[in-house]
Amino acid sequence: MDRIAALPPLRETIAAHGLDAKKRFGQHFLLDLNLTRRIARAAAPLDAGTVVEVGPGPGGLTRALLLEGAANVVAIELDRRAIDALRELEAAADGHLALVEADALQVDPATLGPAPRRIVANLPYNVSTPLLVRWLHAADDLADMVLMFQKEVVDRLVAAPRSKDYGRLSVLAQHVCEVRRLFDIPPSAFVPPPKVVSSVARLTPRPAADRLADLRPLERVTAAAFGQRRKMLRGSLAGLFGDPTAVLTDLGLSPTARAEELSVADFVRLAGRLD
Ligand code: SAH
Repeated sequence: MDRIAALPPLRETIAAHGLDAKKRFGQHFLLDLNLTRRIARAAAPLDAGTVVEVGPGPGGLTRALLLEGAANVVAIELDRRAIDALRELEAAADGHLALVEADALQVDPATLGPAPRRIVANLPYNVSTPLLVRWLHAADDLADMVLMFQKEVVDRLVAAPRSKDYGRLSVLAQHVCEVRRLFDIPPSAFVPPPKVVSSVARLTPRPAADRLADLRPLERVTAAAFGQRRKMLRGSLAGLFGDPTAVLTDLGLSPTARAEELSVADFVRLAGRLD
C-alpha cells in the first residue's frame, strides 16, 4: 500500500511512457485520486474474489482500487503503451494486480479469476454499450458492475416506461440487473476533457431465478418493438409472431400500444411467447 502511495504522480507516468491520449482508444484519463477512490469505494467489497478493471489506461482507477483494499485486480487493456506504463504499479502492488493485454470484447470474465467477480471500469465510450450487453449475457458469472458511461447512456439504462430514453437497453439492463445511477462527473475531471458529462452506475445482477437464462428472445422482441417505436405493437411485432394481435391480447396487452408503454415484465412475457 505504501509503495503504491509512493509512486510518481500519474502525470509523470503518462509523460515517461508517452501515453498521450489517443482518440482511437477512446482515451480520457481520470487523474484525480479523490474521484477514482470514490468510484472504487462504490464497488466495495473489494477484498474477496476478483475485481476486473477494463481499460486501466495510466492506472488512476487501478491505484484507487488497490488503495481501497482490492485483493485481486485483473486489468484488461488494449493499448500496449498503457500496459508498459502500468508495470511499475504492477510491481508495487505485490501480487495484487495482474495485467492482461487484450480487447475486453474478446475476453470472457469468468476466465479471469474466482467469484465473486466485480467489473469496475471507466469505459472507452466507443465500446461501452457492446461491452455492457456482453456482460449482461454473462450475468451468472458476475456479482456486480460499477461502470462509467457518458451520461446519456445511463439515462437510457435507468429510464422508466413512457419516457423518451426508455428502449432496448433499459429493458435488457433492468431485467438482468438492479440498476442505479450513482453520481455524475464533469468533463473537466478528465485529461483530455470529453465533450459530454459522464455518469457512474452500479448494475447488480438479480438472482438467476428471477431472470431469463437466455436473453436472446428478449433481445429479439425489444429490437423489433423499439426498432419502430412510433408504430403500434401489432405492426412492429408482425415479423416475429404470426398473429401479434392474438399474442398481445392473450397477454392482456393492447395491440395498439407502442413499445414505450410496455413494462420490462411485459417484454419478458412477450419473449416467452417466441419459439
Ligand atoms: N480508466 C482509465 C482510462 C480511461 S480511457 C482512467 O480512468 O484514467 C479508456 C481506456 O480503455 C483506455 O486506456 C483505452 O486504451 C482502453 N480501451 C479501449 N478499448 C478497449 C478494449 N476494447 N479493451 C480494453 N481496453 C480498451
